[in-house]
Amino acid sequence: MSEEKVIELAKRRGIFWPSYEIYGGVGGLYDIGPIGTRIKNKIVQLWRKIFVEENSDFVVEIETPMITPKKVFEASGHLENFTDPIVECNKCHRVFRADHLVEEVLKINAEGLKAEELTNLIREKNIKCPVCGGDLGDVRYFNLLFSTNIGPYTGSTGFLRPETAQGMFTSFKRVYESTREKLPLGIAQVGRVARNEISPRQGLIRMREFTIMEIEFFMDPEDTENVPLDKFSEDKINVLPAEAKIKGEKPSTFKVKELVDEKIVINPWMAYWMATANKFVRKLGVPLERVYFEEKLPSERAHYSSQTFDQMVIVGEDKVEISGHAYRGDYDLSRHSKSSGQDLSVFKKYDQPKIIKKKIVIINKDKLNKESKDFVKEFMKRVSSLKPEEVEKILNEKIDGKEIKEYVTVTEREEKESGKRFIPHVVEPSFGVERCLYISVLNAYREKKDRIVLSLPREIAPYEVAVFPLLERDELISRAREIYSKVKEKFDAIFDDSGSIGKRYARADEIGIPYAITVDPQTLQDNTVTIRDRDTWNQIRVKEEELINTLEKLFSGEEIIPKGSSNEPG
Ligand code: AMP
Repeated sequence: MSEEKVIELAKRRGIFWPSYEIYGGVGGLYDIGPIGTRIKNKIVQLWRKIFVEENSDFVVEIETPMITPKKVFEASGHLENFTDPIVECNKCHRVFRADHLVEEVLKINAEGLKAEELTNLIREKNIKCPVCGGDLGDVRYFNLLFSTNIGPYTGSTGFLRPETAQGMFTSFKRVYESTREKLPLGIAQVGRVARNEISPRQGLIRMREFTIMEIEFFMDPEDTENVPLDKFSEDKINVLPAEAKIKGEKPSTFKVKELVDEKIVINPWMAYWMATANKFVRKLGVPLERVYFEEKLPSERAHYSSQTFDQMVIVGEDKVEISGHAYRGDYDLSRHSKSSGQDLSVFKKYDQPKIIKKKIVIINKDKLNKESKDFVKEFMKRVSSLKPEEVEKILNEKIDGKEIKEYVTVTEREEKESGKRFIPHVVEPSFGVERCLYISVLNAYREKKDRIVLSLPREIAPYEVAVFPLLERDELISRAREIYSKVKEKFDAIFDDSGSIGKRYARADEIGIPYAITVDPQTLQDNTVTIRDRDTWNQIRVKEEELINTLEKLFSGEEIIPKGSSNEPG
């Protein structure tokens, strides 16, 4: 399967196409067509079901703006760090993404190499402009944020968000207080983001504006016992940990819990959301043997992350990142807390107050007061600013020949602690919707007898059922319309009476409609219709009154239509 064929199909059938085509298009900007929008909406709906609804005890969804004031990205570090390395041709002045160029020419992994390292490689290996063969300049950094003005004031710079995350961080306290003031708390958001990518690719892989679905999951890093990993006790997950990656090994298969037991993830919630992501990608129709999580090396990670796994899908010879899983720790809340002056910590009350032993320092004042002023001054200088543990270490030291321990005792006292105050840590699973759409379509694309079939799973198919009158005869059309309105009450259905039946089957196959119901002259005689299976092209004839029931059974996986594939498209 080639990507060109999929892109051609996408344009022809209204799945996606380059935006502003009549003006020649703009790299990295795509329209999602009528069929693409249906599939995309279903992907978002599926994500909501699996990530939000199934976790609604601790996940809520919000919506925040795309336009973001400069202060936010100063605090988050994006103004400084959300950059990619670029290199310009001295002759034709085209600009390339430097690490990608080095990767393509030298067939190495150049992700995360510094600008100087990339410049050196370009010089050493004599890499030239891939378009005109000219010399390349020095590698420098390019910031991917799109900037704008907020209102008519030139000084009021704003940026389009490159991720929805900052909206969740800046509103964390509000959401926390307006919900249950309890952790864990996941804040989900689905929204548009913009990244001024240097070299957008054909298709929906690297776009300049796209939709992201992400959760910022706030939790207490010490509370590692209550993570519901049992939900995934049977699930396996393919992971390439950093160590194995450095050695050039392939991903290994783990049980979800093993990721925690073997300390592959730094917090069990990472494993929880990675397993959830696997469940979601499987529902997009991608077999899990073609999915693995690749740990990023420290040099490859985003500035805010202390551990990241990218969920990769193998597509032909290529692999595509479908989601990122970052352990953002307390980086973002701490930075925003400092920058805004607002306290973004939370107080967690213990179920039972904890009795804790605290060391304290008791100075024997009576004895100390009997000593000279100079002695007291020296004593206070040496002891007063120390913590009890530090005082313990100098007890045997002397002042004027007298041991410090003669004047001070370090002892333990029991104290009641009702809770603790801390800045929550964050785990972030983040999916690009258009990448999900693209990968689902690539994955579903089949060619059969010179025809195309898009074998999308029912949950993301643009329609579940198509209803066709076999011929353009009035009585067939009106009977088919009656049946269509009944089917539509239960299923996502579409009616089509234009063109030959062969063309209509082909159209339904190409946009991935699982079943087509055809109303033919026999229907008028015996009230039966045919149901045709998209993938096998096999058909069965059922009584009209059993139609809904039969469709339900088919969708629940019952083998009512013979499995063996028919050679005739119908
Ligand atoms: P990141 O924040 O870079 O980890 O991105 C999160 C997710 O957004 C990725 O896993 C992709 O699915 C998607 N994504 C990132 N960059 C792009 C892009 N330029 N075009 C389309 N999708 C993207």
